[in-house]
Amino acid sequence: MTYDVAVIGGGMVGTAIGYGCASRGAHTALLDQGDLSLRAARANAGLIYSQGKGEGLPAYAAWTRRSVRLWSDFAELMASAAGRSIGFRRRGVISYCLGEDELQARRDLIHRMHNQHGGPASPVHVLDRHEVEALLPDAQLGPRVVGGSYSPEDCDVNALPLLRALNAGFLQAGGVHLLERTVTRIAPQGDGFTITSDRDTVQARKIVVACGLGIPHLAPMVGLHAPVRPVRGQMIVTERLAPTLPIPGSGVRQIEEGVVQIGTTTEEGETNPATTVADLARMAGRAAQVIPALAQARIVRSWAGIRPMTPDGCPIYQQSPMHPGAFVAVCHSGVTLCAVHAGPLAEAILAGTLPNDVTDLHPDRFNAHAA
Ligand SMILES: Cc1cc2nc3c(=O)[nH]c(=O)nc-3n(C[C@H](O)[C@H](O)[C@H](O)COP(=O)(O)OP(=O)(O)OC[C@H]3O[C@@H](n4cnc5c(N)ncnc54)[C@H](O)[C@@H]3O)c2cc1C
Repeated sequence: MTYDVAVIGGGMVGTAIGYGCASRGAHTALLDQGDLSLRAARANAGLIYSQGKGEGLPAYAAWTRRSVRLWSDFAELMASAAGRSIGFRRRGVISYCLGEDELQARRDLIHRMHNQHGGPASPVHVLDRHEVEALLPDAQLGPRVVGGSYSPEDCDVNALPLLRALNAGFLQAGGVHLLERTVTRIAPQGDGFTITSDRDTVQARKIVVACGLGIPHLAPMVGLHAPVRPVRGQMIVTERLAPTLPIPGSGVRQIEEGVVQIGTTTEEGETNPATTVADLARMAGRAAQVIPALAQARIVRSWAGIRPMTPDGCPIYQQSPMHPGAFVAVCHSGVTLCAVHAGPLAEAILAGTLPNDVTDLHPDRFNAHAA
């Protein structure tokens, strides 16, 4: 069996690209490990979030902007593929600031982004405390909340139904799941590639290496270079509460079902997807400073996920110069960028190229930095 495209990695990035290829008529296989693999796609906060994205790399800001704008139409496609809501809301996202130092740092970031070529990924406003209160009339803010920033075009989504919808859409478009296998080797062969896993071998004319933390092992086999390191993030979910937070916040987000998601941490080098009491306590403490009523809420669940992180935190896309037809894709904003991965990126890969938007997101930028 020779596929048009084989995507290695069934997380948020690989599944979006696989769906995008299959829904454009390509005979596509999606290869992924078992359910116990390190999968950030199952652990994330579900924000489609643009604030600060692309500082120092305008191409990332523009790519994020394109995705945020495509998200409404994409969400409709996903809800129809899943046959249910994926919890998509475009209400903007608030980032709360505790104390004047945080607010000043946020002002400075927004100022730098505005002065950067192309501007920020989407409009961002600095709000004082009264303006935050006006957005959340039913919430009592803690005394240390001096304001925040607000990006009205940002959105949120329920990440697990999204992943399910991507998989459903992929199958409906004739995609083939090759699950419960670890790819151990990829090799160029003829005008395509042979992909060997611990279960079998398949052939494909094009391959996309999109397996998160598995990339550094596989990518060099076909001349691709995408350094990623593990960065752990922890999350908390409370019991269902009366709706008081209609606008999602970065770090404190009440979803439609009423539960409040609290998070997250950024822990370098951690590969164990375990939570720690000290970190959960710190996250819960900050959330209770933002919304003091949360101190009374019961925590029903907490979890950790391991993000694949690039050296500068920005995405990497590359087609192999030695073996055209082999691509790599990785980012730490797989939800935010889902719409561009399933759309323009998949379309370009089928055409044997990468979108012009991502030219500057090539891994050569790390060589330039080193030089
Ligand atoms: C706590 C937390 C909060 C986050 N919040 C947000 C957010 O609000 N918004 C946002 O945009 N992003 C968020 N993210 C990031 C987002 O989840 C990641 O960007 C995204 O999941 C990365 O997707 P991925 O497909 O590259 O990697 P993963 O989700 O890690 O998936 C990689 C897949 O590749 C498979 N794999 C690995 N090696 C192999 C191999 N050799 N053979 C076969 N399969 C292999 C694994 O089984 C896995 O399924 C968050 C992440 C965390 C951890």
